[in-house]
Amino acid sequence: MPIRLRRHHVLCAVTYDGQGYTDAFVANTSRIAYGELGGPAGDGKEILITSSADVICASCPHRRGLGCSTNDMIDGLDLMHGAVLDLDPGDRLSWEECRTRVLDRIVPQDLNTLCAGCSLLPSGSCQASLARQLSSKNKGRPKAAPEAG
Ligand code: SF4
Repeated sequence: MPIRLRRHHVLCAVTYDGQGYTDAFVANTSRIAYGELGGPAGDGKEILITSSADVICASCPHRRGLGCSTNDMIDGLDLMHGAVLDLDPGDRLSWEECRTRVLDRIVPQDLNTLCAGCSLLPSGSCQASLARQLSSKNKGRPKAAPEAG
């Protein structure tokens, strides 16, 4: 069974650093980003790109059925991220390919434009996570969950 992700959630899942709107959102996104995708079998997981609510939206307080309370902004993010990552709804590809596209095509300062409007952006944690992963890319180190505390 593929993991359904909106286009902009590919970057969210790569850079996820434990932030979120609620405890339930953090628990669900951590399970996906660190467990399913960041775990040993993560690279081979099949991703199905979708234009509606996905596995990350599932526990989000902003979800409205298959949509989002900020649909206009979210649809804009999906369009921009889809253009950069060459992703369209209905595409199926491995998580390894998704992550490779992010690390090959996006640098931390791009997030100011690509993620404009996201309330999680100002903390800088996504940019910092991406910077860490880019610096370790050539060493072949897998993404690690942030340390507690
Ligand atoms: S804000 Fe909208 S797009 Fe983002 S996780 Fe929540 S429901 Fe999904």
